[in-house]
Amino acid sequence: MKYIDEYRDGKLARQIAAAIAAEVHPDRSYHLMEFCGGHTHAIFRYGIPDLLPDNVRMVHGPGCPVCVLPVGRIDNAIQLARDQGVTLCTYGDMLRVPGSDRFSLLKAKAQGADIRMVYSSADALQIAQDNPRRTVVFFAIGFETTTPPTAVALKQAQALDLNNFHVFCNHVLTPSAISNILESPQVRELGTVPLDGFIGPAHVSTVIGSRPYEYFAEEYQRPVVIAGFEPLDVLQAIRMLVRQLNEGRAEVENEFSRAVTRDGNLKAQRVVAECFELRRIFEWRGLGMVPYSGLQIKQEFARWDAERYFDIPQLKVSDNKACECGAILRGVKKPQDCKLFGTVCTPENPMGSCMVSSEGACAAYYSYGRYKESA
Ligand code: SF4
Repeated sequence: MKYIDEYRDGKLARQIAAAIAAEVHPDRSYHLMEFCGGHTHAIFRYGIPDLLPDNVRMVHGPGCPVCVLPVGRIDNAIQLARDQGVTLCTYGDMLRVPGSDRFSLLKAKAQGADIRMVYSSADALQIAQDNPRRTVVFFAIGFETTTPPTAVALKQAQALDLNNFHVFCNHVLTPSAISNILESPQVRELGTVPLDGFIGPAHVSTVIGSRPYEYFAEEYQRPVVIAGFEPLDVLQAIRMLVRQLNEGRAEVENEFSRAVTRDGNLKAQRVVAECFELRRIFEWRGLGMVPYSGLQIKQEFARWDAERYFDIPQLKVSDNKACECGAILRGVKKPQDCKLFGTVCTPENPMGSCMVSSEGACAAYYSYGRYKESA
């Protein structure tokens, strides 16, 4: 398969791994964060840590959209479906994420709430069109990749003059979160790890391009290499980061040039800019309140904004005390540092968000047997 098989070539993987081993300086360490959950998944699926020298450590970042949504927003969605009687549409993984007291959308559905799993915002819009007597809310989550389709749904709702469709917007922004990992007082208080460089997201960068990371690399003096999701992409990105660090450079490089350009997808950016604007502050699981890290629906689309249409309280709910998702999303701890990992908490019975989505670090560790490795 073009663009798949050639990026999974085992012989080539061993050659790149040997090149990395030859280039690393034995007297220094390289802490590299992969921001994106898709990379975390690939790293474990293909056993990449086993190919790296001991002083090259991969640190898992907060780039799983299901994992970073705070408990309060999940409770808000549950309340919308259960107490306001709406038809709530969302992506499959969201159904299982535990809210307060381990209650989830799936449990609310079992108790009779009208909650439906959809594959896209277009599905939710269709449900609204097919059920004019129901009020339909699309529980929108995700980074820059899923935001354009939500914007398109808003524009279609406007064009159709659809009265029974609303969007509960929880879209968040990648560059603000990466900056926050390095500089926020909250993260400093809660503890962090040394980070020498970043593997930049793949899908997100197809939309926003590589340009937004240039300020970040310059300001924080950390190299960023944007990489695809195949194992050779990731290995090559690690090699490029090691080389930059050895040469004392902090630049944005693009390993994923077959899909990412410097300017990204301008059409998608335009439709997002038409429908959304920056929120002053938004809460992330694991990172706390992050300034200018989320989007809200613009005044022109207020009629379709669930937060303006319904009374949605700002809930401040702490994570389950035993769950270490917060520390894992900041890269401070690994899944096996959590006492519940693999015993009480498994993909079939997730206690926290990092075990729900396949992009979550706990689910990736568990699914690919990394729980056997020592901490
Ligand atoms: S193993 Fe489960 S409880 Fe522990 S951090 Fe991961 S998701 Fe949370």
